Amino acid sequence: MTTFHDFLRTRQTFLLTGHENPDGDCLGAQAALFHLLRALGNQVHIVNPDPIGRSFDFLQQHTPFGHARAEDALPAFDAAVLLDCCQLSRVGSLGQRLQKSGKPIAVIDHHVGSDKGDGTICYVDPTAAATGALVRRLHRELGVPLSKAAAEGVFLSLVADTGWFRYSNADAEVFAMASELVAAGVDGSRIFDALYRRNHPDSAGLLADTLARHRLRLSGKLAIATLDKALMERAARADFDTDAVLDPLRSLEGVEVVALLKERFDGTVKCSLRARADIDVQAIVAQFGGGGHKKAAGATMKMGMVAAEAAIEGAVQQSLLAAEGSRRA
Ligand code: 5GP
Ligand code: MN
Repeated sequence: MTTFHDFLRTRQTFLLTGHENPDGDCLGAQAALFHLLRALGNQVHIVNPDPIGRSFDFLQQHTPFGHARAEDALPAFDAAVLLDCCQLSRVGSLGQRLQKSGKPIAVIDHHVGSDKGDGTICYVDPTAAATGALVRRLHRELGVPLSKAAAEGVFLSLVADTGWFRYSNADAEVFAMASELVAAGVDGSRIFDALYRRNHPDSAGLLADTLARHRLRLSGKLAIATLDKALMERAARADFDTDAVLDPLRSLEGVEVVALLKERFDGTVKCSLRARADIDVQAIVAQFGGGGHKKAAGATMKMGMVAAEAAIEGAVQQSLLAAEGSRRA
């Protein structure tokens, strides 16, 4: 069996991609892998299904990020690498093009079940805090020193997926890596400012308006926030990071699950769930074809907002009842 290392060593030209609306972990891991593969003498193209958000601009100083519109030709490549997700269906129309290319698809991912996705070869570990942490491991295993640009990518991945080291996935590996990354020249405070201190003037109003519409359900254990199409349009104009809504709701005493529902223009609803205690939100979104982690998961629900809200409330209720039952048993 070819090992993942051999796979990377024996191809010359790579196309790196990831999920739609790439987040900090996805982009950071791509940046780190870009520099790893370049150090091995390969040609590398990063081609995402969507452009990178403005707050991630700082990455472009060292790493070129491209995105594919349907009419654009793809660069030639021997292998594609899918980072921070494992299914081509999450890569938009680019996913279908990669499938049709017939080229091998490597997956580097840390989501539950990522070994059962579309990867012809996988480097996965659901216990890893971030996909970027896996790319850091690959550097070590392949004996490639971490460049400053790669270190910055890994750092972005870690802070994105551990909530700046606050979540329960911030384990010893994460803190050890963080120390090493800072020693390699990463300026965490500069990255923090780049990510969170350049918001559009309407972002405070958007946060206030979204939070003002939140509802508590299931005796205060479920907090729901929704962005309808009108708010989504405003959010798109202001490049508003809707994740900002999650934390204030998670901070409410008694709330065990936060649900953020966003109405998409194609009639579907994007749902994001976050759990505080022992509720497994990955199992909840799996019912709607989604995935993620135990405490942070998402899905695209093929239904309208009212139905999506009711479905989530019902599924969370079941899960709370089951958790209560197992506590009693
Ligand atoms: P978010 O709620 O921030 O979009 O995602 C939370 C976690 O769930 C992330 O790790 C993300 O990759 C995963 N996730 C979000 N949406 C989907 C989805 O539609 N399918 C799958 N498999 N995972 C998702
Ligand atoms: Mn991730």
